[in-house]
Amino acid sequence: MDFANILFAGPCNRACPWCIGKALPARVNRSNLELFPLPGLEHLVRQMRAHQIERVVFTGTVSDPQLYRHQRRLIEWLRAALPWPLQISLHSNGALTLRQLDILGTYDKACFSIPSFDPLIYRRLMGRSRPPRLGRILELTPIPIKVSCVVNEYNASSISEFVTQCHELGLRRLVLRNLFGDQTDWRLMSGFEPVRFYRNNPVYDYHGMEVTVWRFDQAQVRSLNLFPDGVLSADYLLMDRFRPSTVGPRY
Ligand code: SF4
Repeated sequence: MDFANILFAGPCNRACPWCIGKALPARVNRSNLELFPLPGLEHLVRQMRAHQIERVVFTGTVSDPQLYRHQRRLIEWLRAALPWPLQISLHSNGALTLRQLDILGTYDKACFSIPSFDPLIYRRLMGRSRPPRLGRILELTPIPIKVSCVVNEYNASSISEFVTQCHELGLRRLVLRNLFGDQTDWRLMSGFEPVRFYRNNPVYDYHGMEVTVWRFDQAQVRSLNLFPDGVLSADYLLMDRFRPSTVGPRY
């Protein structure tokens, strides 16, 4: 196993039409935003110990981990429960980040899903509201920040502008990724040569900013997933039509 995912469900502050968690059975997406301890947490930690998993990601099925009421308590609990320097990552839409800077500083790193800085394109891809203020987040956040940008027909033509904007804001790591199951070659980073490959996906150097073009079908990533209803699984349940036993974080 490469890492563990702790998945959150409940009402979300965005409404992405592509949200893959909405395709999960309703029994899985029982809200856990108010719960501590989380159902299945002890089981997850036992498995992490058994497999010596050193990375855990807070992410969501149909909600955002920054909506979880007990983030700080869960982080402290996990660090106490696991006997090695645990790397705890946040994968979030970033909507609440500037209101939670103190909690953000207790993670080791964070990845924010931002598909565009254009409010109209952002709303098409995220369902509502405006993009988070990435520049301000980078300015005020002490931990490493990555941005994950979902690419589809709404933003593919403006990706080179988005890459430039991220670079100008001082971002160091960007991931451009196809939606799960989408095989389209969007011809991203044309004119650049990969400097290396990460799990079969090309990595580019854009004036000092690392840009990875990520396709799930080309990646080999294995995770242990704690679902909101307490089920612990290496399968992302409904995803077996794409590829069983493997799943990456959605952000
Ligand atoms: S922000 Fe994440 S959990 Fe919320 S609707 Fe979008 S994809 Fe789903």
